[in-house]
Amino acid sequence: MCGIFGYVGQPVKVGPVVLEALRSMEYRGYDSWGVAYTTGEQPGGIIKAVGRVEVGAAAGAEATAAIGHTRWATHGEVCERNAHPHLSCGGRIAVVHNGIIENADELRAGLEDVLLASDTDSEIMAHLVAHNVGRSHSLTEAVQTAFSSIEGNNAFVVLDRATGEVVVVTRRLPIRLSRHDDGVVLASDPAALAGMVETAIALPDDTAVSLGTPTHVAEAVVRLIAEGRGVPVPDRGERIEGGPGISMRSEIAEQPAVLRRVAADIEPVLAAVALARQAERVVFTGCGSASHAAMYAADLLVEAEVGIDGVAIPASEILGQPGRIRPGDVMVALTQSGETADVIDAVTIARERGAAVVGLINAEGSSVERLVDVAVPLLAGHERSVLATKSYLAMLARGAQLVRGMTGAADGALGIWLLGEADDVQEVLGSRRTQHWIAGLAEQLAHGSSALMLTSGGHMPVAREAALKVKEGSYVHAEAVLSGELKHGVIALVEDHFPCVMLTPDEAIASRLRIAAEELRSRGAAVYWLGPGAPHGLIQEQAGIVVETPSPFAQTVLMQMVALETALMRGVDPDFPRNLAKSVTVR
Ligand code: GLU
Repeated sequence: MCGIFGYVGQPVKVGPVVLEALRSMEYRGYDSWGVAYTTGEQPGGIIKAVGRVEVGAAAGAEATAAIGHTRWATHGEVCERNAHPHLSCGGRIAVVHNGIIENADELRAGLEDVLLASDTDSEIMAHLVAHNVGRSHSLTEAVQTAFSSIEGNNAFVVLDRATGEVVVVTRRLPIRLSRHDDGVVLASDPAALAGMVETAIALPDDTAVSLGTPTHVAEAVVRLIAEGRGVPVPDRGERIEGGPGISMRSEIAEQPAVLRRVAADIEPVLAAVALARQAERVVFTGCGSASHAAMYAADLLVEAEVGIDGVAIPASEILGQPGRIRPGDVMVALTQSGETADVIDAVTIARERGAAVVGLINAEGSSVERLVDVAVPLLAGHERSVLATKSYLAMLARGAQLVRGMTGAADGALGIWLLGEADDVQEVLGSRRTQHWIAGLAEQLAHGSSALMLTSGGHMPVAREAALKVKEGSYVHAEAVLSGELKHGVIALVEDHFPCVMLTPDEAIASRLRIAAEELRSRGAAVYWLGPGAPHGLIQEQAGIVVETPSPFAQTVLMQMVALETALMRGVDPDFPRNLAKSVTVR
């Protein structure tokens, strides 16, 4: 899922240019990072380290050619030896890689004379290129030949450290290219090019392209960039400096403003509604949090009884079961980055099977945006924390707007109700009583190892998202359970002080959850109530601190706060939790 970067041209400072670009792609992986650079005349330097990018690491170094990488490990443990760039024997060829070489074992077996220096699949490419260099007319040809023997979706940037030539090749993983002064720059994320260039083009698949050398930019790449459709390079967004969870906290606080922006931007929803109303069925899809927003929208559509069925299918399931998508479907793909590999696969399959596709997408100019019939922007702005908060709430809002539109709600009505949700969110974020409730629950969760989020009906996505946030942010196991299912098995987990959160949307469901709450309390559980209808005994016990908002938006935001506080109490930085990356660009 890594972030990759390449440059040839006039001398630039490695720290502020290359390492800053890598830092802006850390959300794609922060297991380790590395850079290989040269000034053309000498082999130059290599820096690698485990953990977050240190921009000061290249103090004063200059480069006329450089490749760089931030890693999310797929093959080989997280250690300096496995950090990219990887070198050929003798060190002439350096390679950075995004993806998975699916036939790595077979290719490795063919490299019997080579002593491999890492456990990664990526290193294979360095040896294959080096092997082909002597047998080819050019580095480009050597890279192309090596790439043709590799299976899977992969992107490579190759540096010849003897000449300073850089060659790039990709299949299905985005690479953006642009001229920079007299040179050329590329990155897997256009935002990594911010401050260097205004627009960038997408590199076509399966064709190795040389950027040239620092003194001679390749004609082919100049032509490619001149003829390609340049899309604007978005801002990197303001970097917020501070302690753990600083981004998550500020992104949670931005949510009322995000909802108000979404409420005011109805045009793209109308185009999506027009398409969805033609459907025999609407399939909502996404990964992680987005799959919960997909489930929420599908439930709303089923409840709306508009004569068009709604279903949510996790994007990762569609590649293995393409038959679940039918020609009369409209797929609604929800994605923050627009680069999630499973979502790209799902959208591609939908198109192949004759279904139209709507994208609810946060990042501008993404791969998914280019594949869909109608793109509806989520307008959440740049989201830095690995834990999705404001992009998730925007997904809930856009999904609900779409369904409301399908029920024939007047155009004006698609925004007004959302302003009420924005006010509710604002209110719970500012209330002292709420802060007490959050602190009490976070304390309980932080001292346990497991928790249940119980609900019923349309609030299941709220419970699932709450459980996911707690797991991701604090490594406490949490599970969403339908209250009616509790005594059919899960209740076996419950013992003294076991945290259970009851999430209720209305009085009817609250009456069922009250029974479950009593059953849990009888077994010593610490029960927390979020929504209307709390049992009197519980209200008294918790000194009246019960939060009554029925809104799935406000409840979601409260549980985000709980996850944040729990993470901080357990010493985890929820902006960068272990083993995760924000944009999951591998299958
Ligand atoms: N497979 C490579 C590795 O494990 C690249 C991983 C990636 O693209 O996330 O280092």
